[in-house]
Amino acid sequence: MTTAKYAVIGWPVQHSVSPEMQAAAFAAAGLRASYERVAVRPGQLAEAIERLRSEPYAGWNVTVPHKAAMAKLVDRLDPVAERSGSVNTVVNRDGVLHGFSTDGFGLAEALHEAFGVSIAGGRFLFCGCGGAARAATIHFAAAGAATLVIVNRTLEKARDVARVIGTANPACRVACLQPDQAADLAVALSDCRVLIQATSLGLHAGDPYPMPPNLVPSDVAVMDMIYRRTPFLAAVAGHGCKVADGRGMLLHQGARSFEIWTGQRAPLDAMRNALDNALALCLKQE
Ligand code: NAP
Repeated sequence: MTTAKYAVIGWPVQHSVSPEMQAAAFAAAGLRASYERVAVRPGQLAEAIERLRSEPYAGWNVTVPHKAAMAKLVDRLDPVAERSGSVNTVVNRDGVLHGFSTDGFGLAEALHEAFGVSIAGGRFLFCGCGGAARAATIHFAAAGAATLVIVNRTLEKARDVARVIGTANPACRVACLQPDQAADLAVALSDCRVLIQATSLGLHAGDPYPMPPNLVPSDVAVMDMIYRRTPFLAAVAGHGCKVADGRGMLLHQGARSFEIWTGQRAPLDAMRNALDNALALCLKQE
């Protein structure tokens, strides 16, 4: 039996815990596979992909900063990846590269697991509109979300997502705001059940809050895409909001990648344990 080769490519990539999570998944499923970190500098993605295609690697994940560039290098794109211009999962079928975006699926599963929330008919507020929020909002609109409020410092990025959704899923209402529009933000929050913190603020000590926590009503559930409890999560939990960090999203986007590659159900318990252990080790080393 040959060993199928998989990888995660990014720059930097040494911090990625996907190798631990996917290795656990392959082992639990009884599949012979390797999964390694491949460091690829910005600007060198095309050469790296030709190497992975020809070796051949059976598939790979893509992380910062290559998700948008990867969408331009695959041969086929699934619809959400095409609309969001972002690929985090590639499968190599006989040299033909198929690109997918599993971030939105991962977030949707994580919200369901943490808060019992379904996407269809739901009202969601996203704080941030970088690559991850773009992929997630476009996935949510395709999955039948009723309302999306997108709050971003750079308003034009939110408006661009609103235009894409308006064309593909016109039944989904999208409103765009900036974080300093406190009065409009308070009204929007009173109409949403879930807030997703999707900026990179909270990764580093001393980062400002992405939006004033006291604007968030206590009956709004808050998920932060960052993999640990951020000061923003702690602040909203302090006045009664249900909260969850980004581990569930990381788990479920990886589980979906595994299913795309193998056609098998992902062994979630094994993946979750491996992820928790790997992240605990990362926190100890910081
Ligand atoms: P990105 O494309 O770099 O976007 C960064 C976002 O943060 C943008 O909305 C940006 O606003 C905002 N931002 C950054 N600095 C800011 C500041 N000083 N003030 C206000 N807004 C600021 O990043 P991404 O790939 O979308 O990732 C966003 C976060 O999600 C990261 O923390 C990442 O680790 C996390 N993530 C988690 C998962 C998971 O599985 N849990 C998956 C993907 C990403 P502008 O547009 O105005 O610059």
